[in-house]
Amino acid sequence: DEEDVNPSVSPHGSALGLWGNKQWGDTASYVPKKKLQSWYQSSDGNWELAKILSTSGTESLISFSEGKVLKVNSDSLVAANPEILDGVDDLMQLSYLNEPSVLYNLQYRYDRDMIYSKAGPVLVAINPFKKIPLYGSDYIQAYKSKSTDSPHVYAITDTAIREMIRDEVNQSIVISGESGAGKTETAKIAMQYLAALGGGSGIEYEILKTNPILEAFGNAKTSRNNNSSRFGKLIEIHFSETGKISGAQIQTFLLEKSRVVQCTEGERSYHSFYQLCAGAPPHLREKLNLLNVHEYKYLQQSTCYTINGVDDAEQFRIVVEALDAVHVSKENQENAFAMLAAVLWLGNVTFSIIDNENHVEPVIDEALLNVAELIGCKADDLKLALSTRKMKVNNDIIVQKQTLAQAIDTRDALAKSIYSCLFDWLVEQINKSLAVGKRRTGRSISILDIYGFESFDVNSFEQFCINYANERLQQHFNRHLFKLEQEEYIQDGIDWAKVEFEDNQDCLNLFEKKPLGLMTLLDEESTFPNGTDITFAAKLKQHLKSNSCFRGERGKAFTVHHYAGEVMYDTSGFLEKNRDLMHLDSIQLLSSCTCELPQAFASNMLSLSEKPVPGPLHKSGGADSQKLSVITKFKGQLFQLMQRLESTTPHFIRCIKPNNSQSPGIYHQGLVLQQLRCCGVLEVVRISRSGFPTRMSHQKFARRYGFLLLEHVASQDPLSVSVAILHQFDILPEMYQIGYTKLFFRTGQIGKLEDTRNRT
Ligand code: ATP
Ligand code: MG
Repeated sequence: DEEDVNPSVSPHGSALGLWGNKQWGDTASYVPKKKLQSWYQSSDGNWELAKILSTSGTESLISFSEGKVLKVNSDSLVAANPEILDGVDDLMQLSYLNEPSVLYNLQYRYDRDMIYSKAGPVLVAINPFKKIPLYGSDYIQAYKSKSTDSPHVYAITDTAIREMIRDEVNQSIVISGESGAGKTETAKIAMQYLAALGGGSGIEYEILKTNPILEAFGNAKTSRNNNSSRFGKLIEIHFSETGKISGAQIQTFLLEKSRVVQCTEGERSYHSFYQLCAGAPPHLREKLNLLNVHEYKYLQQSTCYTINGVDDAEQFRIVVEALDAVHVSKENQENAFAMLAAVLWLGNVTFSIIDNENHVEPVIDEALLNVAELIGCKADDLKLALSTRKMKVNNDIIVQKQTLAQAIDTRDALAKSIYSCLFDWLVEQINKSLAVGKRRTGRSISILDIYGFESFDVNSFEQFCINYANERLQQHFNRHLFKLEQEEYIQDGIDWAKVEFEDNQDCLNLFEKKPLGLMTLLDEESTFPNGTDITFAAKLKQHLKSNSCFRGERGKAFTVHHYAGEVMYDTSGFLEKNRDLMHLDSIQLLSSCTCELPQAFASNMLSLSEKPVPGPLHKSGGADSQKLSVITKFKGQLFQLMQRLESTTPHFIRCIKPNNSQSPGIYHQGLVLQQLRCCGVLEVVRISRSGFPTRMSHQKFARRYGFLLLEHVASQDPLSVSVAILHQFDILPEMYQIGYTKLFFRTGQIGKLEDTRNRT
């Protein structure tokens, strides 16, 4: 009986007490009843299940399973679900939708290796940190043939394929979650499924091979994840009319460049460096003059050179095989490896003082000579580019010597640029190879694997960009999930405006508003000759102090009220990171190189520099490369991304990290809860349920409850009977809506009727 009463209706009566309040865990209207199970938060913050023995006045006597008995304030108890609901597939099915119940349900499943659950339309994936037997061809077949419907990445991917074909609309799978939560693994699992169902042409093999390449060059070991993606990625997989994969396109976002030249203890730089040093065959070692990893200064900044359970030499072979698969020629592969070696050698370039004004020059040694050879320039030109800077003063070009700090900056900027250009170049090569089925007549499924919301003790420019991206995605998420709900209301003539949801438009305005938003003010300050992080922070406070999403903090800091919580940003380094300077001298050096890649990098940089929007032009008086600021470029990319996503039917996957030690079997309630709040999972169930999730046709409603009527109703048509029932039971007008064909109820409303019906 498809119109059956929504299972979310509480068998104990109204669940609305908890549900009707916006506040999670609000217990104000929960009246503990004897014998019922209830949640009690112990002093360590964890929730424990307790049985209510008795209640008198404001106090309840509760007992725990191990026998302990406690007298507590009744208000501190939160309703628990009946055992029959333990481990339900979909959180929407819970009678009591409060934080402890949601946490418990997910943990119940996690303990049984059921790492996937639904939260309404959203798939929740909890990282198992171990191999679980849920993947591979048997499972793919099962989901394909629909012989199982338990929540899975395969299931959501299958839905995407079906909807793409049925509705002829492009689809997207949006994966979010914090670092180490499993986004990249989830994306790969989705790609596997697509490749299995849409394969045949062989291009699916190439698509899967892009993963080891991008991971080698864009992932690194961090304190939070041994294989952390340091960039965002959108892969759009194209299908022909017959549902076969015909090609793909990858777009990347904001690679973390700073890691190339600086890296904290316990972390590593990009995998590619270690793989090259460990796995290069003898002829290549010789050609690139490779040393061992611990002999390179950039890598020495952290004493961590290896990752438990990972064989970098073996990974190198896997990457080479993958490069072969996407048709990067052997010659180009060697060119790319030469760039890696050049970056490593650059880090070993040292400087010596040449005059009594502390100006420096690079020492002509093995390191400098190797860099020059690897990029194909004269050693003297490299030396000049690293020790002097051309500046334009009143139309004259003057050459300025550099101090040690300036020279190191220049060297590091060059290393960072070479690396990030190499990364972009690789993506370009991959895209060329995957663009085989150029006829874009078919449809596509895009998979977005992008950094989740971040809030650390100290938050910098990177978190600023990442969290801004998440605000945009959250808005997309809200709008979409909301729209879905509302479509049915509109169809049935329901007054859908009554459904409210947390809108994050105010926060987006704080970022984007012109002329007085965070981004504009940042760009403006970045172009000022005398702009510093301190003046930037002061400007923010001056102009934004009345904004409700903003709070100025002591010193250089400010706080933004994000949808996922407040984050305090430290403006140190904001301007420099936003400018992302690359001296013209360095670009000219690269363009003068005889090697193909440095030349290509230089022309790329120059083409980017043409737009004379914010750049530190004035600061040096001249000859720096002018280009879009990092935040402006990122914003542009995001707008484009949102436009693309808007034209698709989205499917959302929220990945959750159950512990901070990357270990299996540990479920840290507080950590999970914080992520559920951040990624809006609780919110989405709330939104879905704060609509009118219980629906019943007029006929069925009249039939089911009509006999409870105490007074005779003149007209016996289903609608009149239904209205009479609603009145008799004092169901408040805001708790239901009458549609053309159905009655729509908020969660818990039917409970009262069901209770009476069952007692009768
Ligand atoms: P980041 O934002 O740092 O890139 P991420 O969300 O992409 O993090 P992943 O790299 O996908 O996280 O996952 C981290 C690790 O967790 C993986 O290397 C793997 O060991 C483990 N893991 C994630 N998902 C699964 C899974 N479904 N099965 C087994 N292990 C998994
Ligand atoms: Mg990742």
